[in-house]
Amino acid sequence: MSYERENIKQMSGYSSGEQPEDGNTLKLNTNENPYPPSAMVTRAIQQFKPTELRRYPPPTAATFRQLTAKLHKLDVDNIIATRGGDELLRLVITTFVDPGEPIGVTDPTYSLYPVLAGIQDCPLVEVGLLDDWGLPDNFADTMNSNGVKLTLLVNPHAPSGALLPIQTIRELANQLDSILLLDEAYIDFVEEDFDTPSLVQDHHNLIILRTLSKGYSLAGLRFGYGIAAPQLIEPMLTKTKDSYNLDLLSQRIAEAAISDQVSAERSWQLVIEERHRLQAELAKLGMTSPASQTNFLLVSSPVDAEQLYLRLKDRQIMVRYFALPRLRDKLRITVGTKAENDRLLSAISEILDSY
Ligand SMILES: *Cc1c(COP(=O)(O)O)cnc(C)c1O
Repeated sequence: MSYERENIKQMSGYSSGEQPEDGNTLKLNTNENPYPPSAMVTRAIQQFKPTELRRYPPPTAATFRQLTAKLHKLDVDNIIATRGGDELLRLVITTFVDPGEPIGVTDPTYSLYPVLAGIQDCPLVEVGLLDDWGLPDNFADTMNSNGVKLTLLVNPHAPSGALLPIQTIRELANQLDSILLLDEAYIDFVEEDFDTPSLVQDHHNLIILRTLSKGYSLAGLRFGYGIAAPQLIEPMLTKTKDSYNLDLLSQRIAEAAISDQVSAERSWQLVIEERHRLQAELAKLGMTSPASQTNFLLVSSPVDAEQLYLRLKDRQIMVRYFALPRLRDKLRITVGTKAENDRLLSAISEILDSY
């Protein structure tokens, strides 16, 4: 006999990008930042005293929340700190959506959303994106007419890299009857001025997700945060999150990282420059990709994409292949350092020459 809840038994778990351990593998499959975190992170770790671990950590990461509120010119009540952006997603679903109530997503989208909806036993309302990965006009109407309680929207979009303008976000927040969770995991790599946090002052159904995993080179830390009106933050902060969801060392590291915007911005700039170069060089090899505002490219493959993925893997280069209807002829490739991108480019060039 099985002890699992029926919906857990029926679902499959999240499949993470592969994480090879050996040193020579080039990882361009999980959108990590190729540059190291701030030197202030190193200092925070070096100055940390193990005896401090004797006590429980600050329960709401108050210092981190204050620093982040100041960064976004908001109030500390507008911020919740979470164990990665992923914990925020889980909190939003378990705090605001009953089992059985529908959750709205685009197709395709971040592959964790259906998994989290499945855990809560919530059906999905999926709306297919247009050919250019934009939102169809009837998006909000479809969500509303299906009784969607929570709409999950990743912007810039994964896995295409496309960016919806701020005006569209405003209109959506106005039109939707549901909470709009705006997943900004990749916002730091957007080239234009794009300041959404202030929107939460006017839009009380909007929750913005941010993470230190990509922009701050700290995927291994597990630290993210949510930005929203206090009435949305408060129940998660005081009722549904784990009592001590963030350990003390992580809080110190996150405080250091968020305080050093200069170092983070330098890495964003380098990623953006390399994104343009990699995109142009790949196009010369017949591998085109739509404009991306993230640290990855969704590249069309001139040969069987899965085979190309496997042949790159043979050469210890990992990229992401999705066996999904609109993605099976493409590869998602994370932008690496110049040297890493050069290694990728010469491998692709050699492989394509052999066809
Ligand atoms: C990386 C990512 C997140 C958050 O990841 P964490 O490492 O849990 O902070 C959220 N959404 C998308 C689309 C992502 O790619």
